[in-house]
Amino acid sequence: PLTTVVIVGRPNVGKSTLFNRLTRSRDALVADLPGLTRDRHYGRALWEERPYLVIDTGGFEPVAKDGILREMARQTEQALDEADRVIFLTDGRSGLTPGDRTIAERLRQRGKHVTLAVNKVEGMARAVVTAEFHELGLGDPLAISSSHGEGIGDLMDEVLGGI
Ligand code: GDP
Ligand code: MG
Repeated sequence: PLTTVVIVGRPNVGKSTLFNRLTRSRDALVADLPGLTRDRHYGRALWEERPYLVIDTGGFEPVAKDGILREMARQTEQALDEADRVIFLTDGRSGLTPGDRTIAERLRQRGKHVTLAVNKVEGMARAVVTAEFHELGLGDPLAISSSHGEGIGDLMDEVLGGI
């Protein structure tokens, strides 16, 4: 079975943009993987020439009207069940939000290997932007820009290193 990486985070932090960047190779969609129906939220990617599976949980989010817990819907929980590694994506432009704290708490309860990434940092002072995210208690936040392709290699080294 392929190592599975799940991207979680609030709506609009850039999960799909990161997913697309990781899976952009021609054959990234998993239509040809046995056991998985064609699903644009599952994609195949390569890290140091080794294939792995990425899940973009954004497509699973219901149109939430009453809080972040509804956004961490049952299917997101199922995706987390499948995960060998979790990328918790946050937004360096909006800064740390209560929703981020709620998700962090949930991830801590699950006890999975989580890498905390702060997205949209292009053109920003990384140390300054990431500073407040330390308080989530999920280790050193990694500064990335999914749309500009900055910090992605370091991120995946951290996510998949040691597997
Ligand atoms: P999702 O809801 O978490 O899947 O977020 P999306 O991937 O749909 O992105 C939400 C918005 O953030 C879109 O307008 C993206 O273009 C933008 N976005 C994503 N990544 C970056 C980034 O690294 N920098 C900036 N400035 N914007 C980004
Ligand atoms: Mg999305």
